Amino acid sequence: MNNTNPPTYRSAAAAGIASPRLQKSLHGLQDRFGKGAMEIWATMDDREMRHRVKDSRMNTFAHLDIILAELAKNVRARGGQVHFAATAQEAIDYTLAVAKKNKVKRVVKGKSMTSAEINIDPALEGASIEVVETDLGEYIIQLAGDKPSHIIAPCIHLDRNQIGELFAEKLGIDYSNDPPTLTMAARSALREKMLGAEMGLTGCNLACAETGQISLVSNEGNIRMATTMPPVLVALMGMERVVATLDEHREALHLLTRGAALQKLSTYVSFLGGPANADDPDGPKEFHLVIIDNGRSKILADPEFREVLACIRCGACLNICPVYGKIGGHAYNSPYCGPIGAVVTPLLDGINKHADLCKGETLCGACKDICTVEIDLPRMLAALRHKLAYGSDRWNTRQHNPIEAYVYSLWKLLVSNSFLYRLSLRLGWLLQRPFVKKNKMISKMAGLADGWTADRDLPPLAGRTFTDLWKRKYAVGRPSASKAQKKGGS
Ligand code: SF4
Repeated sequence: MNNTNPPTYRSAAAAGIASPRLQKSLHGLQDRFGKGAMEIWATMDDREMRHRVKDSRMNTFAHLDIILAELAKNVRARGGQVHFAATAQEAIDYTLAVAKKNKVKRVVKGKSMTSAEINIDPALEGASIEVVETDLGEYIIQLAGDKPSHIIAPCIHLDRNQIGELFAEKLGIDYSNDPPTLTMAARSALREKMLGAEMGLTGCNLACAETGQISLVSNEGNIRMATTMPPVLVALMGMERVVATLDEHREALHLLTRGAALQKLSTYVSFLGGPANADDPDGPKEFHLVIIDNGRSKILADPEFREVLACIRCGACLNICPVYGKIGGHAYNSPYCGPIGAVVTPLLDGINKHADLCKGETLCGACKDICTVEIDLPRMLAALRHKLAYGSDRWNTRQHNPIEAYVYSLWKLLVSNSFLYRLSLRLGWLLQRPFVKKNKMISKMAGLADGWTADRDLPPLAGRTFTDLWKRKYAVGRPSASKAQKKGGS
Protein backbone atom coordinates (compact mmCIF):
# COMPACT_ATOMS: atom_id res chain seq x y z
CA MET A 1 0.00 0.00 0.00
CA ASN A 2 1.30 3.45 -0.88
CA ASN A 3 1.89 5.58 2.20
CA THR A 4 4.34 8.24 1.08
CA ASN A 5 4.07 11.08 3.60
CA PRO A 6 0.36 10.72 4.20
CA PRO A 7 -1.46 13.21 6.43
CA THR A 8 -2.29 11.79 9.84
CA TYR A 9 -5.67 10.20 10.42
CA ARG A 10 -6.60 13.06 12.74
CA SER A 11 -5.62 15.84 10.36
CA ALA A 12 -7.26 14.19 7.33
CA ALA A 13 -10.40 13.48 9.36
CA ALA A 14 -10.51 17.08 10.62
CA ALA A 15 -10.10 18.36 7.05
CA GLY A 16 -12.97 16.13 5.91
CA ILE A 17 -15.26 17.29 8.69
CA ALA A 18 -14.44 20.93 7.92
CA SER A 19 -15.36 20.59 4.23
CA PRO A 20 -19.03 21.54 3.61
CA ARG A 21 -18.77 20.15 0.08
CA LEU A 22 -17.62 16.74 1.32
CA GLN A 23 -20.27 16.71 4.03
CA LYS A 24 -22.96 17.36 1.45
CA SER A 25 -21.67 14.57 -0.83
CA LEU A 26 -21.38 12.06 2.00
CA HIS A 27 -24.81 12.91 3.32
CA GLY A 28 -26.32 12.40 -0.15
CA LEU A 29 -24.47 9.10 -0.57
CA GLN A 30 -25.53 7.67 2.76
CA ASP A 31 -29.09 8.96 2.49
CA ARG A 32 -29.58 7.17 -0.78
CA PHE A 33 -27.38 4.08 -0.75
CA GLY A 34 -27.20 3.35 2.97
CA LYS A 35 -30.94 3.56 3.50
CA GLY A 36 -31.57 1.86 0.15
CA ALA A 37 -29.48 -1.21 0.97
CA MET A 38 -31.16 -1.62 4.37
CA GLU A 39 -34.54 -1.48 2.66
CA ILE A 40 -33.49 -4.12 0.14
CA TRP A 41 -32.31 -6.51 2.86
CA ALA A 42 -35.51 -5.92 4.85
CA THR A 43 -37.82 -6.61 1.90
CA MET A 44 -35.95 -9.33 0.01
CA ASP A 45 -38.09 -12.39 -0.69
CA ASP A 46 -35.21 -14.72 -0.02
CA ARG A 47 -34.14 -13.70 3.49
CA GLU A 48 -31.77 -16.66 3.71
CA MET A 49 -29.63 -15.66 0.75
CA ARG A 50 -27.22 -13.52 2.76
CA HIS A 51 -26.65 -16.39 5.22
CA ARG A 52 -26.13 -18.83 2.35
CA VAL A 53 -23.58 -16.63 0.60
CA LYS A 54 -21.73 -16.05 3.86
CA ASP A 55 -21.71 -19.80 4.53
CA SER A 56 -20.50 -20.58 1.04
CA ARG A 57 -17.70 -18.01 1.38
CA MET A 58 -16.61 -19.52 4.70
CA ASN A 59 -16.82 -23.09 3.32
CA THR A 60 -14.65 -22.04 0.42
CA PHE A 61 -12.00 -20.81 2.85
CA ALA A 62 -11.98 -24.21 4.55
CA HIS A 63 -10.79 -25.74 1.23
CA LEU A 64 -9.21 -22.72 -0.40
CA ASP A 65 -6.11 -24.54 -1.68
CA ILE A 66 -8.22 -27.12 -3.51
CA ILE A 67 -10.64 -24.56 -4.94
CA LEU A 68 -7.85 -22.27 -6.15
CA ALA A 69 -6.14 -25.26 -7.76
CA GLU A 70 -9.38 -26.05 -9.57
CA LEU A 71 -9.69 -22.45 -10.72
CA ALA A 72 -6.11 -22.50 -12.04
CA LYS A 73 -6.64 -25.83 -13.79
CA ASN A 74 -9.80 -24.61 -15.53
CA VAL A 75 -8.30 -21.26 -16.56
CA ARG A 76 -5.33 -23.10 -18.05
CA ALA A 77 -7.70 -25.45 -19.84
CA ARG A 78 -9.16 -22.37 -21.51
CA GLY A 79 -5.70 -21.33 -22.67
CA GLY A 80 -5.09 -18.76 -19.94
CA GLN A 81 -1.95 -18.50 -17.85
CA VAL A 82 -2.09 -18.46 -14.06
CA HIS A 83 0.52 -17.16 -11.68
CA PHE A 84 0.37 -17.36 -7.89
CA ALA A 85 2.05 -14.34 -6.26
CA ALA A 86 2.92 -14.60 -2.57
CA THR A 87 3.67 -10.88 -2.26
CA ALA A 88 2.77 -7.58 -3.88
CA GLN A 89 6.26 -7.40 -5.36
CA GLU A 90 5.90 -10.81 -7.00
CA ALA A 91 2.63 -9.72 -8.61
CA ILE A 92 4.25 -6.51 -9.85
CA ASP A 93 7.30 -8.37 -11.19
CA TYR A 94 5.17 -10.87 -13.08
CA THR A 95 2.97 -8.17 -14.61
CA LEU A 96 6.01 -6.13 -15.62
CA ALA A 97 7.61 -9.18 -17.20
CA VAL A 98 4.45 -9.80 -19.26
CA ALA A 99 4.39 -6.14 -20.31
CA LYS A 100 8.06 -6.13 -21.29
CA LYS A 101 7.80 -9.38 -23.21
CA ASN A 102 4.97 -7.85 -25.24
CA LYS A 103 6.72 -4.47 -25.65
CA VAL A 104 3.82 -2.70 -24.00
CA LYS A 105 3.84 1.09 -24.10
CA ARG A 106 0.35 1.72 -22.75
CA VAL A 107 -1.80 -0.12 -20.22
CA VAL A 108 -5.52 0.58 -19.90
CA LYS A 109 -6.93 -0.34 -16.51
CA GLY A 110 -10.31 -1.47 -15.36
CA LYS A 111 -11.17 -0.54 -11.79
CA SER A 112 -9.04 -2.63 -9.49
CA MET A 113 -8.59 -2.23 -5.77
CA THR A 114 -5.99 -4.98 -5.74
CA SER A 115 -3.85 -2.98 -8.16
CA ALA A 116 -4.07 -0.05 -5.74
CA GLU A 117 -3.25 -2.35 -2.81
CA ILE A 118 -0.05 -3.56 -4.45
CA ASN A 119 0.65 -0.07 -5.84
CA ILE A 120 1.52 -1.27 -9.32
CA ASP A 121 1.13 2.02 -11.22
CA PRO A 122 4.49 3.56 -10.21
CA ALA A 123 6.27 0.33 -11.21
CA LEU A 124 4.65 0.40 -14.66
CA GLU A 125 5.32 4.09 -15.10
CA GLY A 126 8.91 3.53 -13.96
CA ALA A 127 9.24 1.15 -16.91
CA SER A 128 8.07 3.94 -19.26
CA ILE A 129 4.61 2.45 -19.63
CA GLU A 130 1.69 4.85 -19.75
CA VAL A 131 -1.08 3.85 -17.35
CA VAL A 132 -4.62 5.00 -18.06
CA GLU A 133 -7.57 4.40 -15.75
CA THR A 134 -10.75 3.75 -17.73
CA ASP A 135 -13.36 3.66 -14.96
CA LEU A 136 -14.83 7.18 -15.09
CA GLY A 137 -14.38 7.85 -11.38
CA GLU A 138 -10.85 6.46 -11.37
CA TYR A 139 -10.03 8.44 -14.53
CA ILE A 140 -11.14 11.65 -12.80
CA ILE A 141 -9.00 10.77 -9.80
CA GLN A 142 -6.03 10.06 -12.03
CA LEU A 143 -6.41 13.38 -13.90
CA ALA A 144 -6.67 15.21 -10.58
CA GLY A 145 -3.59 13.43 -9.14
CA ASP A 146 -5.85 12.50 -6.25
CA LYS A 147 -6.74 9.32 -4.38
CA PRO A 148 -10.05 7.43 -4.34
CA SER A 149 -12.28 8.07 -1.35
CA HIS A 150 -14.87 5.30 -1.74
CA ILE A 151 -14.69 1.67 -2.82
CA ILE A 152 -17.40 2.01 -5.47
CA ALA A 153 -17.58 5.78 -6.00
CA PRO A 154 -13.91 6.81 -5.95
CA CYS A 155 -14.49 10.52 -6.63
CA ILE A 156 -17.44 11.04 -4.30
CA HIS A 157 -15.45 13.86 -2.66
CA LEU A 158 -15.52 15.92 -5.86
CA ASP A 159 -18.59 17.68 -7.21
CA ARG A 160 -19.44 18.30 -10.85
CA ASN A 161 -18.15 21.89 -10.77
CA GLN A 162 -14.73 20.67 -9.71
CA ILE A 163 -14.81 17.94 -12.34
CA GLY A 164 -15.84 20.51 -14.96
CA GLU A 165 -12.84 22.68 -14.04
CA LEU A 166 -10.56 19.65 -14.08
CA PHE A 167 -11.69 18.54 -17.53
CA ALA A 168 -11.37 22.08 -18.90
CA GLU A 169 -7.78 22.17 -17.65
CA LYS A 170 -6.67 18.63 -18.49
CA LEU A 171 -8.73 17.76 -21.57
CA GLY A 172 -8.81 21.25 -23.08
CA ILE A 173 -12.59 21.39 -23.41
CA ASP A 174 -14.87 24.32 -22.60
CA TYR A 175 -15.92 24.41 -18.95
CA SER A 176 -19.17 22.60 -18.28
CA ASN A 177 -20.71 21.10 -15.18
CA ASP A 178 -23.25 19.11 -17.15
CA PRO A 179 -22.70 15.39 -16.34
CA PRO A 180 -23.59 14.02 -19.83
CA THR A 181 -21.24 16.57 -21.46
CA LEU A 182 -18.45 15.63 -19.07
CA THR A 183 -19.08 11.93 -19.58
CA MET A 184 -18.90 12.31 -23.36
CA ALA A 185 -15.62 14.23 -23.05
CA ALA A 186 -14.12 11.44 -20.93
CA ARG A 187 -15.51 8.84 -23.29
CA SER A 188 -13.87 10.27 -26.38
CA ALA A 189 -10.54 10.80 -24.58
CA LEU A 190 -10.60 7.25 -23.23
CA ARG A 191 -11.60 5.64 -26.49
CA GLU A 192 -8.44 6.97 -28.10
CA LYS A 193 -6.40 5.55 -25.26
CA MET A 194 -8.08 2.16 -25.45
CA LEU A 195 -7.62 1.86 -29.21
CA GLY A 196 -3.87 2.29 -28.86
CA ALA A 197 -3.24 0.17 -25.75
CA GLU A 198 -1.18 -3.00 -25.95
CA MET A 199 -2.27 -4.34 -22.57
CA GLY A 200 -5.34 -4.33 -20.34
CA LEU A 201 -5.00 -4.59 -16.56
CA THR A 202 -7.99 -5.31 -14.43
CA GLY A 203 -9.12 -6.61 -11.08
CA CYS A 204 -11.64 -9.31 -10.36
CA ASN A 205 -14.99 -9.03 -8.63
CA LEU A 206 -15.36 -12.77 -8.29
CA ALA A 207 -13.78 -15.86 -9.81
CA CYS A 208 -15.58 -19.13 -10.42
CA ALA A 209 -13.47 -22.25 -9.94
CA GLU A 210 -16.00 -24.51 -11.63
CA THR A 211 -15.91 -22.63 -14.94
CA GLY A 212 -12.37 -21.20 -14.79
CA GLN A 213 -13.47 -17.60 -15.25
CA ILE A 214 -13.28 -14.31 -13.47
CA SER A 215 -16.24 -11.95 -13.50
CA LEU A 216 -16.25 -8.17 -13.66
CA VAL A 217 -19.23 -5.91 -13.06
CA SER A 218 -19.54 -2.36 -14.33
CA ASN A 219 -22.11 0.17 -15.36
CA GLU A 220 -19.99 1.97 -17.93
CA GLY A 221 -18.87 -0.73 -20.34
CA ASN A 222 -15.29 0.45 -20.07
CA ILE A 223 -14.18 -2.86 -18.63
CA ARG A 224 -15.41 -4.72 -21.70
CA MET A 225 -13.24 -2.55 -23.92
CA ALA A 226 -10.21 -2.53 -21.62
CA THR A 227 -10.30 -6.32 -21.33
CA THR A 228 -11.07 -7.31 -24.89
CA MET A 229 -9.44 -4.72 -27.17
CA PRO A 230 -5.77 -4.89 -26.11
CA PRO A 231 -3.91 -8.02 -27.26
CA VAL A 232 -2.74 -8.84 -23.72
CA LEU A 233 -4.80 -8.94 -20.55
CA VAL A 234 -3.58 -9.30 -16.98
CA ALA A 235 -6.19 -9.77 -14.25
CA LEU A 236 -5.13 -9.24 -10.63
CA MET A 237 -7.11 -11.17 -8.06
CA GLY A 238 -6.91 -11.40 -4.29
CA MET A 239 -6.90 -15.12 -3.55
CA GLU A 240 -10.08 -14.89 -1.46
CA ARG A 241 -12.25 -13.74 -4.37
CA VAL A 242 -12.86 -17.25 -5.63
CA VAL A 243 -16.18 -19.09 -5.31
CA ALA A 244 -16.44 -22.81 -5.93
CA THR A 245 -19.46 -23.17 -8.22
CA LEU A 246 -21.45 -21.19 -10.75
CA ASP A 247 -24.51 -21.42 -8.48
CA GLU A 248 -22.59 -19.84 -5.62
CA HIS A 249 -21.28 -17.23 -8.01
CA ARG A 250 -24.82 -16.37 -9.12
CA GLU A 251 -25.97 -15.71 -5.57
CA ALA A 252 -22.88 -13.72 -4.61
CA LEU A 253 -23.29 -11.57 -7.72
CA HIS A 254 -26.97 -11.13 -6.93
CA LEU A 255 -26.04 -9.61 -3.56
CA LEU A 256 -23.01 -7.69 -4.77
CA THR A 257 -24.89 -5.47 -7.19
CA ARG A 258 -27.68 -4.86 -4.70
CA GLY A 259 -25.33 -3.96 -1.87
CA ALA A 260 -23.11 -1.83 -4.10
CA ALA A 261 -25.58 0.20 -6.14
CA LEU A 262 -29.10 -1.02 -5.23
CA GLN A 263 -29.24 -2.74 -8.63
CA LYS A 264 -30.76 -6.11 -9.41
CA LEU A 265 -27.90 -6.52 -11.85
CA SER A 266 -25.21 -4.15 -13.03
CA THR A 267 -25.41 -2.98 -16.64
CA TYR A 268 -22.50 -5.18 -17.68
CA VAL A 269 -21.28 -8.46 -16.26
CA SER A 270 -18.26 -9.89 -18.07
CA PHE A 271 -16.90 -13.41 -17.68
CA LEU A 272 -13.30 -13.86 -18.77
CA GLY A 273 -11.22 -16.99 -18.60
CA GLY A 274 -8.75 -17.20 -21.44
CA PRO A 275 -7.64 -15.78 -24.76
CA ALA A 276 -9.90 -15.44 -27.80
CA ASN A 277 -10.49 -18.63 -29.73
CA ALA A 278 -12.44 -19.85 -32.74
CA ASP A 279 -15.67 -20.21 -30.74
CA ASP A 280 -15.24 -16.92 -28.91
CA PRO A 281 -13.28 -14.62 -31.23
CA ASP A 282 -13.48 -11.43 -29.11
CA GLY A 283 -10.79 -10.95 -26.53
CA PRO A 284 -7.06 -10.79 -25.97
CA LYS A 285 -4.47 -13.08 -27.50
CA GLU A 286 -2.92 -13.64 -24.05
CA PHE A 287 -4.78 -13.93 -20.78
CA HIS A 288 -2.93 -13.92 -17.47
CA LEU A 289 -4.54 -14.39 -14.07
CA VAL A 290 -2.37 -13.33 -11.12
CA ILE A 291 -3.69 -14.76 -7.85
CA ILE A 292 -2.29 -12.69 -5.01
CA ASP A 293 -1.74 -13.61 -1.38
CA ASN A 294 -0.01 -10.51 0.04
CA GLY A 295 -0.94 -11.22 3.66
CA ARG A 296 -4.21 -13.04 3.10
CA SER A 297 -2.84 -16.44 4.20
CA LYS A 298 -2.08 -14.96 7.59
CA ILE A 299 -5.66 -13.74 7.91
CA LEU A 300 -6.95 -17.09 6.69
CA ALA A 301 -4.94 -18.88 9.36
CA ASP A 302 -6.46 -16.84 12.18
CA PRO A 303 -10.04 -17.88 13.05
CA GLU A 304 -10.53 -14.54 14.77
CA PHE A 305 -10.19 -12.64 11.49
CA ARG A 306 -10.82 -15.18 8.70
CA GLU A 307 -14.36 -13.87 8.30
CA VAL A 308 -13.09 -10.60 6.84
CA LEU A 309 -11.98 -12.47 3.72
CA ALA A 310 -15.66 -13.08 2.91
CA CYS A 311 -15.96 -9.41 1.92
CA ILE A 312 -17.06 -8.94 -1.69
CA ARG A 313 -16.11 -5.22 -1.71
CA CYS A 314 -19.63 -3.95 -2.33
CA GLY A 315 -18.99 -0.80 -0.29
CA ALA A 316 -22.33 -0.94 1.54
CA CYS A 317 -20.71 -0.64 4.97
CA LEU A 318 -19.25 2.73 3.96
CA ASN A 319 -22.72 3.93 3.05
CA ILE A 320 -24.00 3.61 6.58
CA CYS A 321 -20.95 4.13 8.79
CA PRO A 322 -21.31 7.30 10.91
CA VAL A 323 -17.53 7.75 11.00
CA TYR A 324 -16.97 7.39 7.26
CA GLY A 325 -20.02 9.61 6.77
CA LYS A 326 -18.25 12.47 8.52
CA ILE A 327 -14.55 12.05 7.76
CA GLY A 328 -14.71 10.63 4.21
CA GLY A 329 -12.37 8.08 2.67
CA HIS A 330 -9.06 9.94 2.48
CA ALA A 331 -8.55 9.79 6.25
CA TYR A 332 -8.15 5.99 6.01
CA ASN A 333 -5.06 6.39 3.79
CA SER A 334 -5.71 3.06 2.12
CA PRO A 335 -7.51 1.80 -0.99
CA TYR A 336 -9.84 0.13 1.51
CA CYS A 337 -11.70 2.75 3.51
CA GLY A 338 -14.72 2.78 5.83
CA PRO A 339 -15.40 -0.04 8.29
CA ILE A 340 -14.02 -2.76 6.01
CA GLY A 341 -10.86 -0.69 5.55
CA ALA A 342 -10.56 -0.20 9.31
CA VAL A 343 -10.30 -3.99 9.69
CA VAL A 344 -8.57 -5.17 6.55
CA THR A 345 -5.94 -2.43 6.22
CA PRO A 346 -4.37 -3.08 9.66
CA LEU A 347 -4.42 -6.82 9.00
CA LEU A 348 -2.72 -6.49 5.61
CA ASP A 349 -0.39 -3.62 6.37
CA GLY A 350 0.30 -3.61 10.11
CA ILE A 351 -1.92 -3.18 13.15
CA ASN A 352 0.33 -0.66 14.91
CA LYS A 353 0.86 1.27 11.69
CA HIS A 354 -2.90 1.67 11.25
CA ALA A 355 -3.92 1.85 14.92
CA ASP A 356 -6.00 4.97 14.33
CA LEU A 357 -8.27 3.14 11.91
CA CYS A 358 -9.48 0.47 14.30
CA LYS A 359 -9.66 2.94 17.16
CA GLY A 360 -11.55 5.52 15.13
CA GLU A 361 -14.72 3.51 14.49
CA THR A 362 -17.65 3.73 16.93
CA LEU A 363 -18.58 0.01 17.17
CA CYS A 364 -22.20 1.04 16.66
CA GLY A 365 -22.88 -2.14 14.68
CA ALA A 366 -24.44 -0.50 11.61
CA CYS A 367 -21.79 -1.99 9.32
CA LYS A 368 -22.65 -5.49 10.49
CA ASP A 369 -26.37 -4.91 9.92
CA ILE A 370 -25.87 -3.66 6.37
CA CYS A 371 -23.04 -5.96 5.32
CA THR A 372 -24.05 -7.90 2.25
CA VAL A 373 -22.46 -11.05 3.63
CA GLU A 374 -23.10 -10.32 7.30
CA ILE A 375 -19.49 -9.90 8.35
CA ASP A 376 -19.12 -9.04 12.02
CA LEU A 377 -16.81 -6.06 11.56
CA PRO A 378 -17.44 -4.59 15.07
CA ARG A 379 -16.26 -7.83 16.67
CA MET A 380 -13.05 -7.71 14.65
CA LEU A 381 -12.52 -4.02 15.40
CA ALA A 382 -12.74 -4.86 19.10
CA ALA A 383 -10.30 -7.75 18.59
CA LEU A 384 -7.84 -5.40 16.88
CA ARG A 385 -8.14 -2.98 19.80
CA HIS A 386 -7.45 -5.85 22.17
CA LYS A 387 -4.22 -6.54 20.29
CA LEU A 388 -3.28 -2.88 20.53
CA ALA A 389 -4.03 -2.84 24.25
CA TYR A 390 -2.13 -6.00 25.16
CA GLY A 391 0.16 -6.70 22.19
CA SER A 392 0.15 -9.82 20.04
CA ASP A 393 3.06 -12.04 18.97
CA ARG A 394 0.99 -13.65 16.27
CA TRP A 395 0.33 -10.29 14.63
CA ASN A 396 3.66 -8.77 15.61
CA THR A 397 1.79 -6.04 17.44
CA ARG A 398 3.23 -4.11 20.34
CA GLN A 399 1.18 -2.41 23.02
CA HIS A 400 0.04 0.77 21.33
CA ASN A 401 -0.26 3.00 24.37
CA PRO A 402 1.05 1.51 27.65
CA ILE A 403 -0.19 4.54 29.64
CA GLU A 404 -3.70 4.01 28.33
CA ALA A 405 -3.46 0.34 29.29
CA TYR A 406 -2.48 1.30 32.88
CA VAL A 407 -5.30 3.83 33.07
CA TYR A 408 -7.84 1.19 32.04
CA SER A 409 -6.39 -1.37 34.45
CA LEU A 410 -6.84 1.21 37.20
CA TRP A 411 -10.36 1.91 35.98
CA LYS A 412 -11.14 -1.80 36.09
CA LEU A 413 -9.92 -1.94 39.69
CA LEU A 414 -12.04 1.05 40.68
CA VAL A 415 -15.29 -0.09 39.11
CA SER A 416 -15.00 -3.57 40.55
CA ASN A 417 -14.59 -2.36 44.15
CA SER A 418 -17.43 -0.24 45.54
CA PHE A 419 -15.34 1.33 48.32
CA LEU A 420 -12.57 2.39 45.92
CA TYR A 421 -15.13 3.55 43.38
CA ARG A 422 -16.89 5.81 45.87
CA LEU A 423 -13.59 7.08 47.18
CA SER A 424 -12.41 7.96 43.65
CA LEU A 425 -15.66 9.81 42.93
CA ARG A 426 -15.19 11.82 46.07
CA LEU A 427 -11.59 12.63 45.19
CA GLY A 428 -12.58 13.46 41.60
CA TRP A 429 -15.26 15.80 42.89
CA LEU A 430 -12.68 17.64 45.00
CA LEU A 431 -9.97 17.74 42.31
CA GLN A 432 -12.27 19.00 39.57
CA ARG A 433 -13.22 22.17 41.46
CA PRO A 434 -10.61 24.48 39.85
CA PHE A 435 -11.94 23.49 36.43
CA VAL A 436 -15.65 24.14 37.06
CA LYS A 437 -16.65 27.49 35.56
CA LYS A 438 -19.43 29.88 36.54
CA ASN A 439 -21.87 28.15 34.22
CA LYS A 440 -21.29 24.98 36.31
CA MET A 441 -19.61 23.21 33.40
CA ILE A 442 -16.06 22.08 32.74
CA SER A 443 -14.88 23.57 29.47
CA LYS A 444 -11.22 22.57 29.62
CA MET A 445 -9.65 19.47 31.12
CA ALA A 446 -5.94 19.16 31.75
CA GLY A 447 -3.23 16.96 30.21
CA LEU A 448 -4.22 13.72 28.51
CA ALA A 449 -7.89 14.38 29.27
CA ASP A 450 -8.07 17.60 27.22
CA GLY A 451 -9.53 15.76 24.21
CA TRP A 452 -12.73 15.21 26.19
CA THR A 453 -13.41 18.94 26.19
CA ALA A 454 -11.98 19.79 22.77
CA ASP A 455 -15.44 20.11 21.21
CA ARG A 456 -17.87 20.29 24.12
CA ASP A 457 -18.28 21.23 27.77
CA LEU A 458 -18.70 18.50 30.34
CA PRO A 459 -20.95 18.53 33.41
CA PRO A 460 -18.88 18.13 36.60
CA LEU A 461 -19.12 15.10 38.89
CA ALA A 462 -22.07 15.56 41.22
CA GLY A 463 -21.39 16.10 44.92
CA ARG A 464 -23.82 13.33 45.77
CA THR A 465 -24.06 10.19 43.71
CA PHE A 466 -27.32 8.73 42.49
CA THR A 467 -26.91 5.94 45.04
CA ASP A 468 -26.54 8.51 47.86
CA LEU A 469 -29.71 10.28 46.75
CA TRP A 470 -31.62 7.04 46.39
CA LYS A 471 -30.62 5.84 49.83
CA ARG A 472 -31.47 9.19 51.38
CA LYS A 473 -34.90 9.24 49.80
CA TYR A 474 -35.98 5.63 49.89
CA ALA A 475 -33.99 3.95 52.64
CA VAL A 476 -36.31 1.58 54.48
CA GLY A 477 -37.36 2.80 57.91
CA ARG A 478 -36.46 6.43 57.37
CA PRO A 479 -39.23 9.01 57.71
CA SER A 480 -38.42 10.61 54.36
CA ALA A 481 -38.77 7.23 52.68
CA SER A 482 -42.31 6.55 53.93
CA LYS A 483 -43.31 10.13 53.08
CA ALA A 484 -42.05 9.74 49.56
CA GLN A 485 -43.92 6.43 49.20
CA LYS A 486 -47.19 8.02 50.34
CA LYS A 487 -46.69 10.90 47.97
CA GLY A 488 -46.08 8.54 45.07
CA GLY A 489 -49.17 6.49 46.03
CA SER A 490 -47.31 3.22 46.21
S1 SF4 B 1 -17.59 -5.63 4.66
FE1 SF4 B 1 -19.60 -6.24 3.83
S2 SF4 B 1 -20.65 -4.31 3.37
FE2 SF4 B 1 -18.45 -3.81 3.61
S3 SF4 B 1 -17.61 -3.90 1.54
FE3 SF4 B 1 -17.34 -5.95 2.45
S4 SF4 B 1 -19.15 -7.14 1.84
FE4 SF4 B 1 -19.62 -4.98 1.47
